[in-house]
Amino acid sequence: MRAAVAARPGGAAAVSERAPEWHTDLYRMACDQFFRAADRLDLDPDECTRLTEPRRSLVVNLPIRMDDGALVNFAGYRVQHILTMGPTKGGLRYAPDLALGQCAALAMWMTWKCALLGLPFGGAKGGVRCDPSRLSAEEIERITRRFASELGPVIGPDQDIPAPDMGTGEREMAWLYDTYSQSAGHAVPAVVTGKPPALGGTPGRRDATGLGAVFALEAALERRRSPLAGQRCAIQGFGNVGSVAAAELHARGAKLVAVSDVDGAIADPAGLDIPAVLAWSGEHGSVAEYPEAEAIPRDALLELPCDVLIPAAMEHQITADNAARLRCRMVAEAANGPTTPAADEILADRGIPILPDVLAGGGGVTVSYFEWVQGHQRYIWSPSEVQERLRVQMRSALAEVLATSDGLGVDLRTGALVVAVRRVAEAAKLRAVYP
Ligand code: NAD
Repeated sequence: MRAAVAARPGGAAAVSERAPEWHTDLYRMACDQFFRAADRLDLDPDECTRLTEPRRSLVVNLPIRMDDGALVNFAGYRVQHILTMGPTKGGLRYAPDLALGQCAALAMWMTWKCALLGLPFGGAKGGVRCDPSRLSAEEIERITRRFASELGPVIGPDQDIPAPDMGTGEREMAWLYDTYSQSAGHAVPAVVTGKPPALGGTPGRRDATGLGAVFALEAALERRRSPLAGQRCAIQGFGNVGSVAAAELHARGAKLVAVSDVDGAIADPAGLDIPAVLAWSGEHGSVAEYPEAEAIPRDALLELPCDVLIPAAMEHQITADNAARLRCRMVAEAANGPTTPAADEILADRGIPILPDVLAGGGGVTVSYFEWVQGHQRYIWSPSEVQERLRVQMRSALAEVLATSDGLGVDLRTGALVVAVRRVAEAAKLRAVYP
């Protein structure tokens, strides 16, 4: 007999106690956020149990022949959180500290993100525990193809559709697509999104998360009668998401006062020349030694005075340790899980609103959905159509979040999760429990 979980913040601890395999700070954090919304929705303990624990997971060991002849085992994961809403969808991450519980948290957030944006998917997440910066392209290809073949039984165009995340991109998605298609005996474009456009990828998918965050921010600022042009923004992370967000903000007249990556941060209160920083980082692999700006300690970026702080690197960046020192007027979360629940409270007390990750980071999966539809239909939309549909979808999700948060008198994260959890809970109730 399973212990009942009370639908209150303390419920998160109960979930991780009962399901030790997911036990990580990140999973506890995802559960804690969920229970705040569950409380508002008055979900009963059975519903909470169904919606917190992932439905399915795969853990594999990938034996890989390295370039020097050695054989090394890499751990690979795929967690499918909810199978109620349709196929599952979520990225593949290559990172040295990847663990099952981390994938479970990220998969849960994908469920809420898809539900909030009205996409017919449950959430998934996975990847390989490895450091791609220390591997050759050939080694990464062998890891990706072996992982793709191990994933074979659990992924598919109507089952689970991977996409890029940290440490992966179009190149890895092309190998995954090819490996899956080789074994099917024919091309299966809808098995993966974020493919290169030459292979049926949607033009604009690479830019979608960064651009979606900018659309959401633009709409949120409009509500405050505050134009995006002239806003002083600082962006943590200059990879796929952060560099695109920087370029799009710069193109709209915002002032990028600081950007960072894993190797360092640069700042210029007068505003960085983002095209020049992009060129520098493309050539040198990092923004760190860009000569036309002041180099600052990497994590100091989070505490610089600015209008909008955009975490676009990784989880657990704004915490109880630094939240009181933030000097921004708003946080827009392009990364997944950058703010801990304790930091949420500190920022709420300080009157600093947070555009939450399930909203501001939802552009990538939205355009992935467009790509998946196009892969199924073999019909390709124009780049402008993709961009306009993304803009409309981000704005309408934001409007729902604002209406719910205002109506309930809760912060934007709780409002977003209430909208998302309500949709999934309703579907789970209608499908009922099998057998
Ligand atoms: P990426 O690997 O392309 O880039 C990550 C960037 O963060 C790099 O510039 C890296 O140097 C930097 N970084 C890492 N640690 C840092 C630190 N401590 N301080 C400052 N910078 C640091 O990854 P990405 O695809 O841009 O993903 C970034 C975030 O966005 C992740 O949380 C990811 O889950 C989320 N996300 C990505 C997508 C997508 O489509 N790629 C979609 C939704 C959400």
